[in-house]
Amino acid sequence: MLNYFKQKFCSIKKDETFENKLELFQANFFNSPYHSWITESKALKRAFFILLDSLNEQLLQILLKKNLICLRSYGVLACTLSLPPQSDVLIVYPDLIKLLNSASLMHGVSILAHELGHIILNHSHKDLNPILAQLEADTIAFEMGFGKELMEEIKSFPTSYEYQLRIENLAKLLTRQA
Ligand SMILES: [Zn+2]
Repeated sequence: MLNYFKQKFCSIKKDETFENKLELFQANFFNSPYHSWITESKALKRAFFILLDSLNEQLLQILLKKNLICLRSYGVLACTLSLPPQSDVLIVYPDLIKLLNSASLMHGVSILAHELGHIILNHSHKDLNPILAQLEADTIAFEMGFGKELMEEIKSFPTSYEYQLRIENLAKLLTRQA
C-alpha cells in the first residue's frame, strides 16, 4: 500500500486484481487534495480507511466509475463550492466528525457507509421514494459489514415511522446472516 502513496494519482487498469484495484482506489482517495482534512487527522484517516477497506468487488467497481469527493462541513451559514463535473459529493457534518473521533468510531463509519450507499445506488439521480432510498442505503452499509452498528445508531435516534422501518430492515438482514 505504501508504494502507491508515493504517487500523486494512479490510473487503475481493468485487469488488475481486486486487491490491487482497492489499494489504488484508496491511494487515489487519500491523495486527493479534497481529502487533506481526512488525512490530517489520525482518527478520520482511520475511519475512512476502515470504510473503504470494507468495499467488496461489486461496490468498488461502481465507485471506480465515479468521482467520489468527501467534504467537511464546518456548520457555517453558507458556502459556495466549485467541484469537478460529474463528482459525487458526500458531506460530513460536525456531529459525525465528533462521532468518528469518539470511542463510537464504528457507529460513525456505519453512517458513512450508509451515505456511500446513496452514492453507489445513484440516489441523487433517481426519483425514488425517500424511505425506500434509506432502506436501500442501509442495505449497502449492511453488505459492507456495518449493519449492527448502523442499527444501534438508528435506535438512538428519536422514534419515527421511518426509523422503525429501517431498524426492522436491518434486524431482518442481520438475523438472515446469523
Ligand atoms: Zn440516507
